[in-house]
Amino acid sequence: MNKLKGLIEGMAYKELKAIQRDLAEGNMGRLVKERLDEIEAKLGRQEHICPTCGAKLAEETAKYHLVFGPPDFRQRAMFCGLDCLSFFLEKLKQERAPLYHESER
Ligand SMILES: [Zn+2]
Repeated sequence: MNKLKGLIEGMAYKELKAIQRDLAEGNMGRLVKERLDEIEAKLGRQEHICPTCGAKLAEETAKYHLVFGPPDFRQRAMFCGLDCLSFFLEKLKQERAPLYHESER
């Protein structure tokens, strides 16, 4: 964080406004994720874990893959079985349900 703080403190007003716009549009999250994916691919140590039961998974053997989220911040999850995928989707539906009700008003 200190490195980032130093960079921000050294920026001009115009640069900070551009960064603020990128943050609001979600471009920063996408850039960070792309860079992390790039580094992890290079290191070849991407370890996947089923988000429902915590089982360790190899990309080649994971039966179910789910890609979700807005285009600028895509998330990917792998599941060991259909029951874990179903449970995850149910949890996702419950978490997002209040948002749907608010936008329907
Ligand atoms: Zn699982």
